[in-house]
Amino acid sequence: MSDKFDVIFIGAGPAGYVGAIRAAQLGLKVACVDAFAGKDGKQALGGTCLNVGCIPSKALLDSSRQFHNLVHSFDVHGISADNPRIDVPTFIGRKDKIVKQFTGGVAALFKANKVTPFFGKGKLLKGNQVEITSPDGAKQVISATNVVLASGSVPIELPFAKFDGKAILDNASALDLAEVPKRLGVIGAGVIGLELGSVWRRLGSEVTILEALPDFLGAADPDIAKVAQREFKKLGLEIKLGAKLGKADVKVGPDKSSVVHLTYADKDGEQSLVVDKLLVAVGRRAYTDGLLAADTGVKLDERGRIVVDEHCHTGVDGVWAIGDAVRGPMLAHKGSEEGVAVAEWIAGKAGHVNFDTIPWVIYTEPEIAWAGKTEKELKDAGIPYKVGSFPFAAIGRAVAMNEAVGQVKMLAHAETDRILGVHMVGPGVSELIAECVVAMEFKGSSEDLARIVHAHPTLSEAVHEAALSVDKRAIHKGN
Ligand code: FAD
Ligand code: NAD
Repeated sequence: MSDKFDVIFIGAGPAGYVGAIRAAQLGLKVACVDAFAGKDGKQALGGTCLNVGCIPSKALLDSSRQFHNLVHSFDVHGISADNPRIDVPTFIGRKDKIVKQFTGGVAALFKANKVTPFFGKGKLLKGNQVEITSPDGAKQVISATNVVLASGSVPIELPFAKFDGKAILDNASALDLAEVPKRLGVIGAGVIGLELGSVWRRLGSEVTILEALPDFLGAADPDIAKVAQREFKKLGLEIKLGAKLGKADVKVGPDKSSVVHLTYADKDGEQSLVVDKLLVAVGRRAYTDGLLAADTGVKLDERGRIVVDEHCHTGVDGVWAIGDAVRGPMLAHKGSEEGVAVAEWIAGKAGHVNFDTIPWVIYTEPEIAWAGKTEKELKDAGIPYKVGSFPFAAIGRAVAMNEAVGQVKMLAHAETDRILGVHMVGPGVSELIAECVVAMEFKGSSEDLARIVHAHPTLSEAVHEAALSVDKRAIHKGN
């Protein structure tokens, strides 16, 4: 086989592997280089998302939710079980099986679509050549008309709390604990801190989250964040806002067990906390270590992200970049859509990604989801808007499920009624947001959603009623 390809993707995360499959569908000769090794040391395609991100975290969230409900909320249904226990090796083993199923699934998709995988570290050389260093150190060079950089991201490390995989954890090791830590400290009340903090809290860990900022979930709508904060408190997540970590000292006891002594400052001065494990989840950075030879001409911005234009082009002939390694939200679906768009642009077609309607979902309980603008963004931009909202407490299905918490809030243009943003917290909102994204993509109005028949009794009625409420005509609440 010739080593000249139409496109080489470096990175087989959701940005790179999806782009590679789309490029192959379009008749291009495609290679995909990825260095990720699974627990067995073999290549594990799918990147952060499939190996140590979206999929394993959702597997553990689901198992831990079932356990938590069995212990705390099944009794209202008249269901009881004696002495419920969690077997952590089975809990982690189930997650590992799901990861293997999906990483193997990407390998099968590559085979079916004739994408050639290479296992090793890829480095872009001048002239669209890629040097691959395999895990045994062997090197080879392949070349292509186009190279797409999809090298993803890695967790940010704090200089005074370096990851050791034992006491101070990143996302990967927090998804792989051998037992439930008695006390878990989390630095950062962002998406990972809340999701993985919830997992271990539901299994009985005492979880304390230290967040540097004074506001909880600043990126979310404040009404939504308020409900979520209240519910997380009920779960027993101790969230300390305005808490700035100063020190994290690991102390190893004579029995080789370790604890982490934390020193942090909040509004009341210096505080200390001792935990058995510490998860540091203070954000992620674009990963470009060893990716670019010095003379490629590809530029990085002040945050280390690969600089691209609105078409994900780096400005170097035939070199593109997508996913977490470039600007924009670090979300799997954002990267995948960029991968598809770049494949289509390379094939001479009309690719497209609408950054205005990318949904955000936090898979806690209650779930949090939003798309489009917040009220603050609309106010800052001077855009007139109206608000409709509807609580899940008045939704029959949510009450029947014993999950009647939260609300849907819809923002529509005050004059045109076009939906500008939708913000939700409550049961199943990770799925409900899709309807709103479709409506926004079609430039729909709140009246459009209000006039659409929604099945009864479903959670989607909360979206319907919120749309009616924009025009002060919700049926099942006062307006
Ligand atoms: P990545 O998935 O990071 O993949 C990049 C790949 O490139 C990796 O396999 C890496 O090994 C490889 N690579 C890097 N450099 C090289 C090189 N030089 N040569 C060869 N290979 C290289 N997002 C969501 O949308 N929903 C979620 O629910 C969600 N949950 C998450 C939970 C956790 C715990 C974490 C950490 C992240 C989560 N994310 C979630 C974010 C999501 O995982 C990322 O946005 C997504 O994986 C980015 O995709 P990517 O393809 O750009 O990069
Ligand atoms: P994040 O940006 O979501 O949250 C990091 C939090 O840490 C912020 O609230 C920040 O203020 C805080 N922080 C930063 N430095 C701190 C310090 N020194 N002390 C205390 N707090 C500090 O980052 P993350 O949770 O690490 O997740 C990274 C990214 O991964 C997310 O932004 C998201 O793009 C992606 N992700 C998405 C999902 C999802 O879609 N459900 C799940 C997990 C991760």
